[in-house]
Formats: sequence, C-alpha cells, structure tokens
Amino acid sequence: MYTIHQLQIKQFIGFLILLFAFPGCTEKISQVIGSLDQIAPSQTLQTGGDDCSAYTSYSPDTTHLDHTPVKYIRVNVHFMNSSDSSKNYNYHRARPFGEKLIAAANQHLTDNQKMALPRGNTTPILPTRYQYKISTSTGYEENRGIYCHYDDDLYWFVSRGRNKNNYDRHVIKKYSIGLDSIINIFVVPHHPDSVVSESYAVTSAGIALGNAIKIAGVFETRKSARAFRGLLNHEVGHVLGLRHTWNANDGCDDTPRNPNCWMTTDQAPCDTAASNNLMDYNKHQNAWTPCQIGKIQFNMSRESSRARRVLDPLWCQLDPKKTITIRDSIVWSGAKDLEGNLEIEEGGVLTVNCRLSIPPHGEITVAPGGKLLLRDALVHNACGKTWNGIKVLTRGKHAGQVRQSGNTVIENVVVADQVMSQ
Ligand SMILES: [Zn+2]
Repeated sequence: MYTIHQLQIKQFIGFLILLFAFPGCTEKISQVIGSLDQIAPSQTLQTGGDDCSAYTSYSPDTTHLDHTPVKYIRVNVHFMNSSDSSKNYNYHRARPFGEKLIAAANQHLTDNQKMALPRGNTTPILPTRYQYKISTSTGYEENRGIYCHYDDDLYWFVSRGRNKNNYDRHVIKKYSIGLDSIINIFVVPHHPDSVVSESYAVTSAGIALGNAIKIAGVFETRKSARAFRGLLNHEVGHVLGLRHTWNANDGCDDTPRNPNCWMTTDQAPCDTAASNNLMDYNKHQNAWTPCQIGKIQFNMSRESSRARRVLDPLWCQLDPKKTITIRDSIVWSGAKDLEGNLEIEEGGVLTVNCRLSIPPHGEITVAPGGKLLLRDALVHNACGKTWNGIKVLTRGKHAGQVRQSGNTVIENVVVADQVMSQ
C-alpha cells in the first residue's frame, strides 16, 4: 500500500519521464499576438470583399448554432388605465398577463414555422436566435418591469377618425422607462367613445414608434395573452428593422408579395395566397425567413444601431461555458460578438472576414495544426475593454498558424508582456 505522499512522488516521476521521453507531446504558448505587425501577411489569402452587410451572412449556421449566440432583447410592459381603473388590467392582473404575453411571444420565437408562400417553397426554417427578457430599471426595481399608469388624458388609443392618436408620442414621453435601452410596450385600450361607435372596429392593433410599441384591443377583447404574441413579435420586428412584405420590397428575396389575406378561405385569392409570415397581417404571424432573421441579426451586430442598444450585452462579460471550438473549416462572413473564448483545434481553419469581438479577458488560441485567417477583419473588444490576444501554441515543430490580408485591424489587446507574466 502506498501513502498519499508516495503516490504523489510516483505520479510526479511518471510525469517527468513522459516529458523527457516525448517532448513533442506538450503544447506551449510560442507567441501572444496583440497587434497586426506580429502577423505574417498572406500572399495567397484574398481580401474579404464587402459581404459584411449581406443579410444572408448573418443567418444562423444550423450545424454550428453556438456561433450565433442567442440575443436577449430588454422589454418592459406598461398598462395604461383610466383613473377609476376600469379600462385595463390593474396591477394584480397586469403582472401575470404581461408575463404570459412575453412568454408566449418567446415561445413563438423558438418555434419558427415553414413559410406558406410561395406555394411549394423550399425556404429553410432557421432558428431566430433571439428572445425577450422583462427588464427593470434603476429606481423601479419593485415593479420588476411591469407598470400600471392611471391617466384619463393619455390612457386611450384611437386608430382612425378625428381623435386619431396612434402616432402620438405623448404617452411614451411621459411614461416610458429606460427607453434608450429597453423596448417599452404600452398596452393601451381603445377610447370608450370609439368602442360604442358601430363603425369603429375594436380589434387588436399595434404600432411601433422608435423603441416604443403601442398595442390596443387587449383588455377590451378579453382574449388570452397568447392571442397577442404574433402582433407583439410583428411590432418588435419593425423595431429591429423589418418591413411589411405584402406590399413593398422589404429587401429580402424569400418574402414574396401577396394579397395580405388574414387567413386561408374558399375565395380567391385567399384560397391559395394566404401568408403566415411575421411581417404580414395574418392570424399566424409565426414564420421568419432566413433573410429576415439575417437582417435582424445584422442590425443587432451594427455597433450604433437601435436594435443593438436594446440588447442585454452578454458579449461584455466573459463566460467560459460559451467557448467556441473550431474543428473544421469555417468562414465567418458576418460580424460576431462572442461571449466566451475562441479555440481553433488541430485541423480547424477559421476565416474571419468582418468584425469579431472577443469578451473582456477573453482570448483566441490556435493549436498546432489549426489556422486562423483574418481577411479585412477587425478583431477587438466591442465594450471598450481589453482582451488577452491570440495565443499561438506549439508542439515540437508544429505550430498554430495565423495569417492576415487586406485591411485587417487588431485592437484592445492588453500589453502582451502582461499576458505572458500572468
Ligand atoms: Zn406593421
């Protein structure tokens, strides 16, 4: 029997024997790259071109879903009510209703459906890779992102006629909370005078105004929260940069124009041409096309965009569980904001054509037999912080390879000797 001490000595001697007998088996860091002048330019690597703004470059890669981390959009919900609290859900009913509405909309976002149009299409069904998160603001913590306001002048909504106010922003200016970084959803009832008018349809309706959304017809129709999930996703679609598809060019080839039927009926054209796309007016609003998803992800990646400002910036905190490992040949033609480290293993080749953000204190490692090719790439930290550079590993005579071409830029790396001494 060995004592623990004897066992440790034996293990240590065994380790030394391995080390001297097989010196090529250990990997060590041969270089930490923190600036462009440390990377050999490539004669054969072509420049990336201008596809960094192509929506299709941002459609999730279904064989490597972790390369498109799920983005979380911050939202809050306001229930506008009359001073006698008779025109909308009050707080005890508003909170569960608001939470159910967001949960139902999130469920739709994770359950993308096949496009109904054009008939016989083979449009792929991709995951949307975004979700909503009810978010609070400093000073309003006890409300936990769901608010009730009682205001006889501003609680109501009229979509047409003399008192039309659907585009009016007064209610938003007065009651929005954290509007610069949170989508504020206002549940506004139709005006009681409109409700009694026979010519005014009290239906669900919505409008997106900047980072705010108004949704009407919720309380009056007494429908369940999930009945409004399509409407909410449609209006958020506008905030994220999507346009209607039935009547105009929305910038996507996979969203055909259509007669904007509410549902399939026996009558032409709605017998064959009813859409289920999110950005048409129909009872489903549950199909996102690859181009629409790509456009949303592209807008979220643009550093000064509205869509990005409402995101929870998970890329600003290193999460080692979100490490991405490259084992085959991958090309990133869209910008990426990583939430973990990046490892390129033996046999892995990663070509980066656009902007790539590494989280604070994060790093890239390139193992022997792995390649990192930077073509017109910007590798940086998108949070104004620093990251730890590209570590090139060697094993015996084998080393990882890093090459660059075009206008590649490397920024925000902490001074290399600091990294080496850590
Ligand atoms: Zn719309």
